[in-house]
Parts: sequence; structure tokens; C-alpha cells
Amino acid sequence: MKSLLLLGCTGSIGTQTLELVRSSPEHFRIAALCASSSWELLAEQVHEFRPDVVALRDREAAARLRDVIDGSVAILSGEEASAQLASEADYHTAVHGIVGAAGLPASIAVLERGKTLALANKESLVVAGALLMELARTGGGTIVPVDSEHAAIFQCLRGESVDSVRRVLLTASGGPLRDRPLDEFDSISPAEALDHPTWDMGPRISLGSATLMNKALEVIEAHHLYGLEAERIEVVLHRQSIVHSMVEFRDGSVLAQMGPPDMRGPIHHALHYPDRAPCKLVGFDLACFSSLSFEPVDPRRFPALELGYECVRAGGDAGCALNAADEVACQAFLDGRISFQDIVPVGRSVLAARPGLEGDLASLLESDRISRGLAEREVARRERTPVRDSSSPCP
Ligand code: MG
Repeated sequence: MKSLLLLGCTGSIGTQTLELVRSSPEHFRIAALCASSSWELLAEQVHEFRPDVVALRDREAAARLRDVIDGSVAILSGEEASAQLASEADYHTAVHGIVGAAGLPASIAVLERGKTLALANKESLVVAGALLMELARTGGGTIVPVDSEHAAIFQCLRGESVDSVRRVLLTASGGPLRDRPLDEFDSISPAEALDHPTWDMGPRISLGSATLMNKALEVIEAHHLYGLEAERIEVVLHRQSIVHSMVEFRDGSVLAQMGPPDMRGPIHHALHYPDRAPCKLVGFDLACFSSLSFEPVDPRRFPALELGYECVRAGGDAGCALNAADEVACQAFLDGRISFQDIVPVGRSVLAARPGLEGDLASLLESDRISRGLAEREVARRERTPVRDSSSPCP
């Protein structure tokens, strides 16, 4: 039986993980749960799964939780609680579904202990990919990607050498705005941008699918996970979200990993890795698989994608700066402060002005902090006087 630490247990990845655990009680035990502030849902999870210890980032929420759960369950709280839990709890695999760069310290703590990191928090790799991969190499830990594209590549590469890869092809659905006339982009509302056509995901990734910034971050993620340079990473538009990604080898063979768009697939794979365990999820489905299409990505519609490649080429703290800018810009858009068309230009301007700090965690966290400040200033500038960016797709 594997014991699990679940980081981000009340979010989209967390609740789907618990659904899988619920249906395989003979395989898994929940050792520890970590959430941000949703103490009521966490209390229900504690009653059902009986973890040894839980953590809440929000101290007030932790106090509320204390009142409603059994005193034998330890409770950690505060900004550092997720990393502390990852450092101290007794578990085999950590499923990491925290959203944003805030998930990085916990990723480091898991790998420092040489444990398995089932990673949905792509920002950890975007911000500190070189550091994390080095930690995994030296500490004996394993990163099993949960991000569906990277889980697909991971499976296609089993038993293969990265040297024999001609290129990987990350698939992108194109999100809710893939057919929207470009001259309507100025008026896109948060609800429209979050309305994903194929995947059911959390708000940050759904919004990142509308801008394609999510795919830009995934290019950086693939670069670090598989040691691939920018020239060997391509993105293709695939509307059906059935082919989760492909690997083309130097002999011209192309392997694809396929399945309906359901995050429980990559979570199940990561939970059981390296085993292939039975699962009730649908595999080949004639109705679903009857028509698969692939198209190039239009850079005018999706200018964010190029920023991902720019970060891979630049290295250092470029990914850290772009991610910080995007977190700030997306929140500003959801809060109605800037338009949809402002999100990518905020990322571009912060990338150009990034502090250039790199190396250890402290430098990257400082770069993250400075980049958020730069992004806030750019948001405020655009909020005061709406800026029409010359490189935006709107004519
Ligand atoms: Mg993905």
C-alpha cells in the first residue's frame, strides 16, 4: 500500500485524486492533506480519509478546522505549511496540485527527501526547473508528471533514449477562443475565457488555455523534464484533446498517447507508477476517436506561445519572471482591472525587464518577487490608460 501526501487537496487535481483513492482503498492510504483555505471541504476529507496530519496556508481557516475535527489529527498552518508538511510527514508519493509558484518550496522539500513527486504544479518546473531536476538526480527522487501532455511524453519515452528523439509535439486544444474572430478579443469577459471546450480544469489553467500561456509554460516544463532544447519542442493545435502529446523519433516513428480528456487518466498513471494498474476510465471510444485533426498554431491569435520559447532560449530566471507576470495579469483580468488583450503584453514587458537573478532558490524567489512588482506596475499603467499593444492580435 502506498501512502500519499496530497498538496492542494481541495482543488481540481486534489479532489480527482481523492476520487481515485476512494475507488482503490486497497492500494492507497492518505497520510497527509494540504489546502489553502477551504477548511470545510478539508474537514470532510479528514473525516473520510483519516490522515495523520493536515496543513492549511490560511491560519484563520486552520483555527476553524481545529474546532470541527478530531484532536488526534495534527494541524500545521501558515505560508510555510505545505513545505513543512512535505518535509515532515510520512509518505511515499506526493501528489502536487497546488496552483502557482507558491507550490515550489513543497516540490523542493519532496525531492530533498528522495521521494516520488507526482507533479501537476507545472510552475515548480517553470520557475526552478534546473534546480528541481538537479535535486531529483542527486537526491534519488522521481518526478512523474501529471500535466497531461508531459504524462503523455513520459509514457511514450519509457524504454527510449531522449537522444533518439527528433522532436516532441505538445498538443493544445486552442481553448475557448480558438475560433473567435480576432476583432472581438477586446471584449472577452472572464466567463468566456474560462469556458474551456474539452477539459474541466481549475481557473488558472483554463485561462492559460485561452491565451495559450499555459502551453508556453508547458514548453518550458518539457524543456526541463526531458532536457530538450527549444528546436525539439513543437506545439500543434488538436481540437479534440484525445492525443495528449506525441514523440517523433529520429527514424521517423511517431508515438502518441491517447485517451478522452480526463485528468483522472494522468493522475491514475502517476499514482501507480511504475505499475500499470486496472482502471475504469474509458480508453478507445469510437465516437470520441473517429475524427482527429491537427493544425498549426496561429501566432497572431496566440502570441503568448513565443514567450515560452524565449524563456527556454534565455534560461536563468526568464521562466520565473514570465510565470510571475502571468499570475498577476490573470488575476487582474479576473478582477476586471485589465482586458484579456493586456495579459500577454504584461508578460512580455516583465520578461524584457526581468532582474536576471538565477542559480539558487533564494535568487529565484527574489526574481519572483521583483517580477510581481513589475507586473503590478504594468497592470496599473494599463488600468489607468488602456494600452493598445501593437503586437496584440487585434487589428
Ligand atoms: Mg497540460
